[in-house]
Amino acid sequence: MRAKRSLGQNFLARSVYPKRIVEAVSPRTGETIIEIGPGQGALTGLLVESGAQIIAIELDRDLVGHLSELFAGYTNLLLIEADALDVDFCQLIAPATTSRVVANLPYYVSTPILQHLLRQRGCMGEMTLMLQREVVDRMTAHPGGKEYGYLSALVQFYCETEKLFDVPPGAFRPTPKVYSSVARLRVRPVVEDEKLFLELIKVLFAQRRKTILNNLRAGRNQLRLRDESQITHTLDESLIDPQRRAETLSIEEIARLAKGIQREHEATGVGEYNK
Ligand code: SAM
Repeated sequence: MRAKRSLGQNFLARSVYPKRIVEAVSPRTGETIIEIGPGQGALTGLLVESGAQIIAIELDRDLVGHLSELFAGYTNLLLIEADALDVDFCQLIAPATTSRVVANLPYYVSTPILQHLLRQRGCMGEMTLMLQREVVDRMTAHPGGKEYGYLSALVQFYCETEKLFDVPPGAFRPTPKVYSSVARLRVRPVVEDEKLFLELIKVLFAQRRKTILNNLRAGRNQLRLRDESQITHTLDESLIDPQRRAETLSIEEIARLAKGIQREHEATGVGEYNK
């Protein structure tokens, strides 16, 4: 199929890179992952194999037709023909309340898509994005450097950013003129329920030498968590390894866990913690 330059179509060719990107995402069975611009399916194929629930949004009708034939029979893939800029992601993933995003973004529209994603960050935990290298360098720049500016401040206000690796032009067909890079953006959680956060840190640090899982088990009633499966589900959704100790958690991670517990409360009808 001929690539349409007007749609920013530079497809990942067969190489180590699609695998490296999906390994960086490390999808878990059953979680919701949104792919923007699946193209010819270089990443989609690996994503569906993981057993996660994949929602792929593609603007090009011809490619949607091609992908539906390619992935016929996969019940964990939902293909949507749409402009990603028009999609309400929170509505799209319902009844799930959180998702992760992966995309080799079409460069002509990468900044508007990024801004659209940031506006809807409430239903996203993490985004793994491939963009032009200079854009990733600006998104992940630290104060004082020449790359630090508007894009760094915009993205870092909402997300922790991390550059993962570069991808050379030769990894794509057709070959672009510039290098690309993959970045991970972890959405900073907003903790609305301060009392829950304070209770959570008490529980987490109750026994410093114990794992997070064991401390949460012991403090389950304090945190109004129903049972073991709700604890492990919440940790999983918050991207926190249950076997770690609380002393290794950053404030961002604790806040993410508090947010995860808050979501569980909302889903199971437990009232606001401080009422
Ligand atoms: N993911 C594929 C890969 O890595 O080989 C394709 C990546 S290609 C750089 C970008 C893809 O985004 C193309 O398939 C293109 O048709 C699609 N696309 C372009 N504009 C889009 C938009 N506004 N909404 C959704 N998809 C779009």
